[in-house]
Amino acid sequence: MEKGKIGVTTENIFPIIKKFLYSDHEIFLRELVSNAADATQKLKTLASAGEFKGELGEMQVKVSFDPKKKTITVSDNGVGMSAEEIDKYLNQIAFSSANEFLDKYKDQASAIIGQFGLGFYSAFMVSDKVEVVSRSYRDGVAAVRWTCDGSPEYSLEETVREERGTDVILYIDKDSKEFLNEQRIEGLLKKYCSFLPVAVQFGNEKEWKDGKMADTGKPRIINNTHPAWTRKPSELKDEDYAAFYRELYPMGEEPLFHIHLNVDYPFKLTGILYFPKIRNNFEIQKNKIQLYCNQVFVTDSVEGIVPDFLTLLHGVIDSPDIPLNVSRSYLQSDSNVRKISGHITKKVADRLADIFKKDRENFEKKWDDLKLFIEYGMITEEKFFEKASKFTLYKNTDGKYFTLEEYDNIIRENQTDKDKSLVHLYTTDPVAQHTYVAKASEKGYDVLVLDGQLDTHLINTIESKNQESKFVRVDSDVIEKLIKKDEDHVSKLTQSQSDDLTQVFRSQVSESDKARFNVRTENLDEGDLPLVITQSEFMRRMKDMAQFGGGYSFYGEMPDSFDLVLNTNHPLVIALAEDLDKEHADELKKNSAGIEKTRVEIEFMEKEHASKKPEEVSTFEKDDLERLRGEVSQLEEKRKTILEDFGAGHQAVKQLIDLAMLANNMLKGEALSAFVKRSISLL
Ligand code: ADP
Repeated sequence: MEKGKIGVTTENIFPIIKKFLYSDHEIFLRELVSNAADATQKLKTLASAGEFKGELGEMQVKVSFDPKKKTITVSDNGVGMSAEEIDKYLNQIAFSSANEFLDKYKDQASAIIGQFGLGFYSAFMVSDKVEVVSRSYRDGVAAVRWTCDGSPEYSLEETVREERGTDVILYIDKDSKEFLNEQRIEGLLKKYCSFLPVAVQFGNEKEWKDGKMADTGKPRIINNTHPAWTRKPSELKDEDYAAFYRELYPMGEEPLFHIHLNVDYPFKLTGILYFPKIRNNFEIQKNKIQLYCNQVFVTDSVEGIVPDFLTLLHGVIDSPDIPLNVSRSYLQSDSNVRKISGHITKKVADRLADIFKKDRENFEKKWDDLKLFIEYGMITEEKFFEKASKFTLYKNTDGKYFTLEEYDNIIRENQTDKDKSLVHLYTTDPVAQHTYVAKASEKGYDVLVLDGQLDTHLINTIESKNQESKFVRVDSDVIEKLIKKDEDHVSKLTQSQSDDLTQVFRSQVSESDKARFNVRTENLDEGDLPLVITQSEFMRRMKDMAQFGGGYSFYGEMPDSFDLVLNTNHPLVIALAEDLDKEHADELKKNSAGIEKTRVEIEFMEKEHASKKPEEVSTFEKDDLERLRGEVSQLEEKRKTILEDFGAGHQAVKQLIDLAMLANNMLKGEALSAFVKRSISLL
């Protein structure tokens, strides 16, 4: 028997291997099974190159465990190793590459994707001792046994093995007993090896017999060696894609569409991506894509490898060209990763464009489930925005779908305002905003329904790219102001009547609402409502966006504010103005004359004072000015009281305010009860 010391250094790396990567000790099984699978693949390659002329037989990897001996064994019938090869591959190459790996990643091991590349030596994360029994495929080469107990020393001796191939026998240490369990091993094999290209056997098939599970004696293969993504798209039907989806996500809801990825150059990439139905709450939908490297599972977090919005998709990506032994933060700067992510983005957009073109009806049917995904992509990825703009749909209040271009052509003539902006009217809730939608329809305008989680963000993005395009919610102003045309209504009231009525209404807004409501007048059509509530598009939109974070939180904290718009041409409003005239014309006239006269005096005095140096203005003169200013405030205060009393004495004022509130679902509690009482008394 030969004894020796591993590798070139005397440093003992086993304690380090055991300690680091504590959370991911389980990857040892993936590493050993993929080595075994590689060994069988190598033999196949040799056979097809004519270098191996023997019987290949059925290539297989077998995993077994013995709870009494506390061992797990991974066996294969692949190329096997001679004594020299064991010395070269295990003592030197495997050891030094493990050493290198540790040196490089000791401090950031957990950041490495799937902890790929530790290789054979990962066996020592869970073992006291590792034994390798191997016989080379070459005729006349003796079988050998390599043993290593975790110290740098190993032993190597000749032994007997009937067939070619390798057994790696792990003597599981006491901290890793969890792995000596059938379910645990099965779970790991399913997780990492479900789609390995070589059959992996673990135990036997079982079947339900006489009230219990019985061994059938037939070996159980845990993997599908030809998963759909490795096959040619031309060989597969829709059912095959659907079946593969169920294989990946047995509990998943049927997806909308799929894309088969298949690239050879300038990088290798295969895979199948599925579009799931996404209605809301996209955060919890993320990270269902599984990343493979040559059919070996690596991770189910593709964050950093594909753009964020694509992490909403489901399916598989397999590429040996994604660097796996780098930390995630380095990924985006890797040129291959950038190319891959660009390619997938393009494919996804092309596929959607294709379905849109060939089967618009189907596309429209699925739109509501696709919308959130597409909008997320448009908002976050410039390239995707460009492509997706051509097939993104907008639904109007009649339930019809349009692309933006189609829609713009329909509304252009009627909804271009006098400043040449194309105004898109929208509602976020056709039921709650019905009054406003109806008003817009009366004018012959069309209204879109934008009730999606990301709609506000999307219209913001569109407006920033096209200054001539404007989106305004139907209740963000009176309709005449939303789409300004040249025709202006003349007011039937004088400016001072208008101002007085504004005061009258302001005085009757309840105390708790005063800060939120601003009263103003507008010369609308006499057929329009006498009083409407509007909310500025800008503030409301910023507040909407604040809900999703991202620099808008300032707006999120602002209180809501609304306009109460008084239609100066409505008969009821004109009647109120006439009443006011009837009851208080003389008083108000006198009051305004007084204010007017005093203001003239103040102005005259201020000019005089300004022409002198400050020290030349006498105290007497200063007092005089102060007195006049006081008189004006008194007169104004008096006018306010007259108007307030008038407002309080006319139930119509309060009634109109409450009706406007009611139309907006804002009349609640005590105010609502008072309104009901007043309405009855008015009847
Ligand atoms: P890697 O697989 O990345 O090359 P490993 O440390 O896992 O690194 O293995 C080192 C080498 O040992 C392999 O390249 C291979 O030549 C050899 N080897 C490991 N396991 C087997 C096996 N089951 N059969 C044949 N050769 C093996």
